[in-house]
Amino acid sequence: MPADPIHFLLVDDLEENLVSLEALLRREGLVLLKARSGVEALELLLKHEVALALLDVQMPGMDGFELAELMRGTERTRRVPIIFLTAGAADYRRRFRGYEAGAVDFLQKPIEPDILRTKTEVFFELFRQRQQLARQHDELKVYARALEQADRRKDEFLAVLAHELRTPLTPIRYGLDMIRLQPDEPVRAEIPAMMDRQLTHLVRLIDDLLDVSRISQGKIELKRQPVTLQAIVQAAVESSRPLVEVGRHELVLELPDAPLSVQGDLTRLAQVVSNLLNNAAKYTPAQGRIRLSIHAESGQGVIDVADNGIGIETEMLPKVFELFTQVEGGATRSRGGLGIGLALARQLVELHEGRLTVESPGRGLGSTFTVRLPLLQVEPAPAQRASERPLLRTSRPRRILVVDDDETSADATAQILTFVGHRVSIAHDGPDALRQAKAESPEAIVLDLGLPGMSGYDVCRALRADPQFQQTLLIAHSGWGAESDRTLSSEAGFDHHLTKPVNFRELAALLEPR
Ligand code: ADP
Repeated sequence: MPADPIHFLLVDDLEENLVSLEALLRREGLVLLKARSGVEALELLLKHEVALALLDVQMPGMDGFELAELMRGTERTRRVPIIFLTAGAADYRRRFRGYEAGAVDFLQKPIEPDILRTKTEVFFELFRQRQQLARQHDELKVYARALEQADRRKDEFLAVLAHELRTPLTPIRYGLDMIRLQPDEPVRAEIPAMMDRQLTHLVRLIDDLLDVSRISQGKIELKRQPVTLQAIVQAAVESSRPLVEVGRHELVLELPDAPLSVQGDLTRLAQVVSNLLNNAAKYTPAQGRIRLSIHAESGQGVIDVADNGIGIETEMLPKVFELFTQVEGGATRSRGGLGIGLALARQLVELHEGRLTVESPGRGLGSTFTVRLPLLQVEPAPAQRASERPLLRTSRPRRILVVDDDETSADATAQILTFVGHRVSIAHDGPDALRQAKAESPEAIVLDLGLPGMSGYDVCRALRADPQFQQTLLIAHSGWGAESDRTLSSEAGFDHHLTKPVNFRELAALLEPR
């Protein structure tokens, strides 16, 4: 923050003296106020706070000493330091009068520039430090006020906390008394059920409190793994069902069949959604309607929890996520709660790189809370890949020639294709392959590219040059599978390129009619 400018007051009846003083003192951050008489000086002193006054002693009308005495007599100017400017050496008596009037120094005319600058510099710096101290004082005051407020909020919070913890204890105590007072009577089923509900509520309050403190210390650890939004919602609905039922609300679920997955901690995310559901149940008058829906939107999984309850006023919307915030003290408190839930929920969602937001058209008009989480990219369903389809007998047996100089490899390929139902013959080099092809006229040829002598490419080109093999299905079978190898084989005239080790399901699939 730039410091406020500092003011010096220059008083002299001669304009040229003022101008030369001004020229000597000019510096950044310093404003020079010029007065040509004592009266003018007093006027300026009323308007400005002055760090130093330089007063000419000899002036017509009110002289410098008189002006100084007036300044001493006024509260506002009592402490302004004064340097008198005298023509010639001031004699002892005059000096004494000056000091009595409050002078801190005398300077003799003609003024020595260095001395003037050094002496005034001290006052400039002193005043600057005073300004800083005053500013720090103000900041401390603001800080103290904030502390006071926090302290008050803490007191309020402790009162609410005590109330909230005690509320579920009362029915538990009551239940125990009932059981103890009538030891011979069978316990009515609703008593333990009620105690159980209250205990769960109590435990949840304490868990939330602990979570808030863990998050603020960065101590929450998420156990993240792929989890579907559907699973999160199901878990949340289960744990919120009691509150929804107490309010006799209608709960509408809109969940798409296709799973939407996120990388998340199921327990924590279910806790978030359950919290939103509980709030919807709490802040909606009995027999309301709560809608919980899931959808995907530009790479995000979206969970909406909408109710037709008491709603939230626009200016309160951002505040509901603040810790210990409750929209309407007394009335809301009767519904229970510490004002922790939403603060915690938002932090948990943000730990998942997501966002939690709220919308409400206003009081009485319901609220919608929305969780957005980055979706995991889903792999194409593996069952659709040819290589993983089961190897089935073919419905359309073909004549096939397998060409490979490696006998084991040729035999293995031939065996599998025979198993599928094709009729297979084998050749071990290029010239042999061409001869057999001519004689047998196969419908498909599986050709190893790395044949010694005449390569698979050569064989392929020779076959394509012959009108007899124009329509034959030619499949390259190679140890090389780079894009450039595929380009080469397709240029030579192959229909397909398979890389070793060949996946036989893929090969078999290529031989099936389309
Ligand atoms: P708590 O419910 O314990 O008070 P939360 O942090 O969960 O604390 O919620 C903070 C405040 O936000 C609530 O006190 C309530 O005023 C408001 N609020 C939360 N959910 C809803 C809702 N579905 N409808 C209306 N107001 C709500």
